[in-house]
Amino acid sequence: MSATVTLPAREVPVIGEYEVVVVGGGPAGIMAATAAARVGRSTLLIERYGFLGGAGTMGGLSTFCGLHARVHGEDVRVIRGYADELLERLERLDGLSEPHLSVEGRIMAQAFDISAYKMAADDLVLASGAELLFHAAVQGLVHDDLGRIDGVVVESKSGAGLVRGRFFIDASGDGDVAAWAGAPFERSEHLLYPSLMFRINGVDPVQAGPAWKTIRTLMEDAEAAGTHSFPRKKPIVRPQRNPLEWRSNLTQLSNEDGSAIDGTDVRQLTRGEIQGRRQVRDTFAFIRERTPGFEDSYVVDIAPQIGIRETRRIVGPYQLTEQDVLGLRRLRRHHRRERVAGRGACDRRRRVPLRAGRLARLQPAALPDAGAPAGRQPPGRRALRLDERSAASPPAGSPARASSWARPRAPPPTWRSVRA
Ligand SMILES: Cc1cc2nc3c(=O)[nH]c(=O)nc-3n(C[C@H](O)[C@H](O)[C@H](O)COP(=O)(O)OP(=O)(O)OC[C@H]3O[C@@H](n4cnc5c(N)ncnc54)[C@H](O)[C@@H]3O)c2cc1C
Repeated sequence: MSATVTLPAREVPVIGEYEVVVVGGGPAGIMAATAAARVGRSTLLIERYGFLGGAGTMGGLSTFCGLHARVHGEDVRVIRGYADELLERLERLDGLSEPHLSVEGRIMAQAFDISAYKMAADDLVLASGAELLFHAAVQGLVHDDLGRIDGVVVESKSGAGLVRGRFFIDASGDGDVAAWAGAPFERSEHLLYPSLMFRINGVDPVQAGPAWKTIRTLMEDAEAAGTHSFPRKKPIVRPQRNPLEWRSNLTQLSNEDGSAIDGTDVRQLTRGEIQGRRQVRDTFAFIRERTPGFEDSYVVDIAPQIGIRETRRIVGPYQLTEQDVLGLRRLRRHHRRERVAGRGACDRRRRVPLRAGRLARLQPAALPDAGAPAGRQPPGRRALRLDERSAASPPAGSPARASSWARPRAPPPTWRSVRA
């Protein structure tokens, strides 16, 4: 469908002004908002759902993987700092299980209770002094006359509103704000497949035993016998803290041509949700029928939305490499710079309350020329401060293997503000 219409200019109220505006309340947004508020920046975190946690809650994951690393054969906690504080809050809510090995014994997983995570994340962010705005989706940007981001346009049940800020942190998981702002990003040619997570309840734990080891064999046998075909070949089915309940990662979501569902395409997202629920129904029926201990089980919960593993990746001044991660590299220089910035800010704690009644007039801005590369920015610039737009080539050699530079699929929703 190629028809377009031009929307008329509209006036929306300015609903807030902050030094730091964080878009997205997943782990990245939770930590970014907490860090900004703790050094005295007036901070607002905007989240489209009514709770924090990102894929951990809305995607129903219920485990943190990556807190540990295998160092000389031993699995040790290597991620600390704010992660410790979040885990302590979860612990106090009795929302943690003992870490266990997952993914064929290769990765240490820290399982958590999803409801406890929502509560712990609220408390962590609010205790820092940051404010939250739930049920508010950022839908576009407003630029000032110099082309810098002036504010983000938020759509909610209260209508549209503009949140102004000095620094904008894109923690949307999809790089929405970065892409709309024209910041460089990359995408893999072949995206990882999304999955729809679900939880099974009513399992007899004694009968089930270590069924997480046998379910895969049962599935492989059924495929070899030609009775079944499963979209995901490596299931992860594990008991939760209460062993009556098991989490299930058993689905793999694709388009008709076999490509992965793209989390930035609303029609593909719709297909993925429907397909995901069908796969839940079919794989659960198989498990219930064939696995001892699952005879009386039932699906107690399907995640609020499909879990998107990757879409856009913002290209910042530095990209972590595989070797950085495997070698536990410390990026000391970057840390020091952040601390200095934070100290100065402490003295000038400034809080600007939501102000009603001010209006910004939004006019559609000229979109980048269709033939020109959008989203290009020179390297060496802080990716999180999205307040400068420019056109430049991708940094030499910086896109990861099998990645391509791309512009957002849809024209970026961007307006120019006219101060009323
Ligand atoms: C199926 C699946 C299984 C996984 N398994 C694990 C696992 O077992 N353990 C593990 O540690 N990791 C796992 N991961 C990876 C983990 O989920 C991610 O690394 C992590 O969630 C990334 O955090 P984030 O904050 O960057 O993004 P997200 O968690 O995606 O959070 C983004 C947030 O931004 C919000 N948002 C997006 N757009 C907007 C907008 N325009 N306006 C307002 N809000 C917006 C979203 O609602 C969401 O809350 C898995 C991922 C998937 C999909």
